[in-house]
Amino acid sequence: MHHSSLKSLSDALTAGDISSVELTGLFLKRINERNAVYNCFVSIDEERSLAQAREADLARAAGRAQALTGIPIAQKDIFCAKGWLTTCGSKMLSNFVSPYDAHVVERFNEAGAVTIGKTNMDEFAMGSSNETSWYGPVRNPWNTDAVPGGSSGGSAAAVAARLAPAATGTDTGGSIRQPAALTGICGLKPTYGVCSRYGMIAFASSLDQAGPMARSAEDMALMMNAMAGYDARDSTSLDRPVEDYTRELATPLKGLRIGLPKEFFADGLQPDVAKAVDEAIRQYRALGCEVVEVTLPNMKLSVPVYYVLAPAEASSNLARFDGVRYGYRTSEYRGLEEMYEKTRAEGFGAEVKRRILIGTYVLSHGYYDAYYIRAQKLRRLIAQDFIAAFDKCDVIMGPTSPSTAFRLGEKAADPLQMYLSDIYTIAVNLAGLPGMSIPCGFDSQGLPVGLQVIGNYFREAQMLQVAHQYQLATDFHLRAPSDINA
Ligand code: GLN
Repeated sequence: MHHSSLKSLSDALTAGDISSVELTGLFLKRINERNAVYNCFVSIDEERSLAQAREADLARAAGRAQALTGIPIAQKDIFCAKGWLTTCGSKMLSNFVSPYDAHVVERFNEAGAVTIGKTNMDEFAMGSSNETSWYGPVRNPWNTDAVPGGSSGGSAAAVAARLAPAATGTDTGGSIRQPAALTGICGLKPTYGVCSRYGMIAFASSLDQAGPMARSAEDMALMMNAMAGYDARDSTSLDRPVEDYTRELATPLKGLRIGLPKEFFADGLQPDVAKAVDEAIRQYRALGCEVVEVTLPNMKLSVPVYYVLAPAEASSNLARFDGVRYGYRTSEYRGLEEMYEKTRAEGFGAEVKRRILIGTYVLSHGYYDAYYIRAQKLRRLIAQDFIAAFDKCDVIMGPTSPSTAFRLGEKAADPLQMYLSDIYTIAVNLAGLPGMSIPCGFDSQGLPVGLQVIGNYFREAQMLQVAHQYQLATDFHLRAPSDINA
């Protein structure tokens, strides 16, 4: 049962082969047995999950079932969920029980899904390895000495280890796609504004976007049907017609134009990754796609631009954690100022402090024009490169990450090396485009490789079609780490 897709779990529930209470119990049991190895979950609340499952079973019995009714979904711990500890991977929020639901969580609740737990993540979503979490690192189910990627590392590892059938993630610079690639699962970052950011703890608001992490394109489409949609509480949420994200899945790809940017295949790409991606492109040609070369000349600026803009926004967003209203407060202080200082010194980890310092610096008088304004202008150029490329092609493909999963500790002491692991994903966030990663092979150590597919604005349904047609012809998405099968 734990290998089943959302679609087949839904069918099994409809057929009465299993109840949601049984299914939820089965995943809770797996989590209890294995979470100590991977550290995917920050919180589990069996009673709360089982109560939702009982309600789902009643709804189903009353003929009120939707596609996800009764199916357990793990929520990244960046999403506020009523009554749940919501930590964002930080000591700063280690005592914060959310009094309300994020829009995304609300949507899953309305769809009848069961929250199976809250997943571990890099602190405030800052990281690419899940090593910055106050709750300790997550281990990659394909090799427990390796990282699962980040910041949605707990969600990725939970899905890869079959501790949840699917999970939510968020992606500011690659945090859905890169961990999906490193753990051999699928992840989609939608067009900016498609999923509401309400109740999603803010990192860099002009880049943050929620999305699904699952084992197949079809499963991601079902999740998108629940997650996407307008919400007046997020001023950047887009009021667009409701879409059925499954509608294009079955359409063959013949005639689809795939753009390959030469910048994605330059120095620094691990040869095994290049090989698997080439092989995937060959498969797409066999499916009737046409391949064209495109160029993204400003791509090389995306990491430096991101590391001005994202910290600038973070320094402002994280100003609210001051020990006054909620979250951690230092135990001893004389006066308000010392309370602020000690609370923030003790509550934030090193990476978060580094970002706040950089962000405050680039926004300060005298540096604002030189860094922040200039980065905004370059951001526009990066977006224009993509707009020009989409004149020549329907989707862009390349690697998701320059390497497969690296060892725990390998890059933790070197922030610049860590930042470079998002070199292929960050430009997509800067442009506000949708991006996806799907499994496309393995390296010589047996670690998964991810293929990145970038679509034009609002073309998520087409991207899911592109993934689904590939998954009909290949089985990389069905493979599981060897010790998971038991
Ligand atoms: N790794 C990038 C960072 O550390 C992206 C993180 C994310 O997408 N949340 O900022």
